[in-house]
Amino acid sequence: MSKLFKRTKILATIGPATNTPELVEEVIMAGVNGCRMNCSHGSNEERDKHIEWIRAAAAKKGRSVAILQDLQGPKIRLGEIKDNHLDLYKGDELILEADPNFVHDGGMAVPVQYNLAEKVRVGEPLSMFDGKVKSIVKEIISGTAIKVEILNDGFIMSRKGLNLPDTDFGGDILTGKDLADIEYGASRDIDYVSLSFVQSASDIERLKQILLSFGSTAKVIAKIETKKAISSDEHLEEIVKMADGIMVARGDMAVEAGAEVVPIVQRKLIAMCRAHGKPCIVATQMMGSMVDSPEPTRAEVSDVATAVVQGADVVMLSDETANGKYPVEAVKEMKKVILYAQNHSRVAQISKKAESESEVYGAISNTAARLAEKINADVIICQTASGTTAFAMASQRPNVPIISVTSNPRVANQLALIYANSAFVRPYSEDVGYRLAEELKNNGYLRVKDGEKDLLTVIVSGDKDKIGTDTIQVRYI
Ligand code: PEP
Repeated sequence: MSKLFKRTKILATIGPATNTPELVEEVIMAGVNGCRMNCSHGSNEERDKHIEWIRAAAAKKGRSVAILQDLQGPKIRLGEIKDNHLDLYKGDELILEADPNFVHDGGMAVPVQYNLAEKVRVGEPLSMFDGKVKSIVKEIISGTAIKVEILNDGFIMSRKGLNLPDTDFGGDILTGKDLADIEYGASRDIDYVSLSFVQSASDIERLKQILLSFGSTAKVIAKIETKKAISSDEHLEEIVKMADGIMVARGDMAVEAGAEVVPIVQRKLIAMCRAHGKPCIVATQMMGSMVDSPEPTRAEVSDVATAVVQGADVVMLSDETANGKYPVEAVKEMKKVILYAQNHSRVAQISKKAESESEVYGAISNTAARLAEKINADVIICQTASGTTAFAMASQRPNVPIISVTSNPRVANQLALIYANSAFVRPYSEDVGYRLAEELKNNGYLRVKDGEKDLLTVIVSGDKDKIGTDTIQVRYI
């Protein structure tokens, strides 16, 4: 059984390539554990449909699927460019104008969706169109406009993103659009909210407060992509501790800090997340060539396998499932690589051992995970109310699947993106022995094939009125 159960999860971005209920169902059936709705694109009307389709497909599959709302953050974009194209040459001077009434007439002043004049300083670098056009700030020319000098030949198009790696947004990274998107998400069935361009732990603290004020129970993922976020290990660790999880946002990180920085930060972040019991998502270009090709490259296969061996909780598909020609194939290929990697290589050790917020949870989860491995158990069954025991168990990176039993559907959806976890929703009961195992069998979570031996299970549970998780049982079922 452990061979069939994918322990590293797949998060797929929903977009034009998956914009029907049938396609959403197909990618979920193919192995997607969570769907990302990218607020940088599309409308809330479309997102309402996506939520409905995802929930329907998950119910049909009989498995929890997480929904992640990805906030744009201060991802600054150009406005409309006349004829959707403007050639730029080294040495050109370009004005970026934030006045909402400004319309591009084909000249060297273009609209931008954020008032950079209030934030940038002369001499700071500014790149456009995923780093394809580089420039430097020459002058703040008014309360709403800045002038930049173009450093290389290229072109820009409408709504392409800007990167300002050295600009300090002064602890104020949530835009008006983000606040409206947070309010929308809080009124919908969302399990995770991720924030782009996080600079400091305080950005996450503010987002958590806002979510709380709207009554949201979504967990918060910090997207790590700015130079400031990775400026020191101590600073990065503060963000990891404050967030409920991390996304290694490799696309913008490469533009902001340099592509060579990304693999090292990825390894560091996965280890840091594991040490703090926080989920880690590795994102962007994992199967990038599959936007146009039915097969991944060798380098992409190796990239996914590396993330699995490093112990990532989740590998993410972006353009592959949002805009690609082969969304379902990309999921299937990714699943194949995950299964092979997990079944032929152990997750790498980390130097710092996993810490749990409670010593009891930490000690019990460590003991249960090691016990399950030692007796070659087929599965760990873990009773969890808030998800804490399941998180602690996952941080041990057992090579055994975990079925987490919770009465809370939100927790179940969130666990869909946690290493090795598959959640089963059932009212709390003190009977977590044989009867629970039977129930799991009846619901297709545990399958014993005819003629095969019974399954060996390690069951971790507790009395919710006392110290919580306090019991480990070993049972054949
Ligand atoms: C990234 O930059 O890698 C990322 C995940 O963010 P987005 O897709 O929103 O640009």
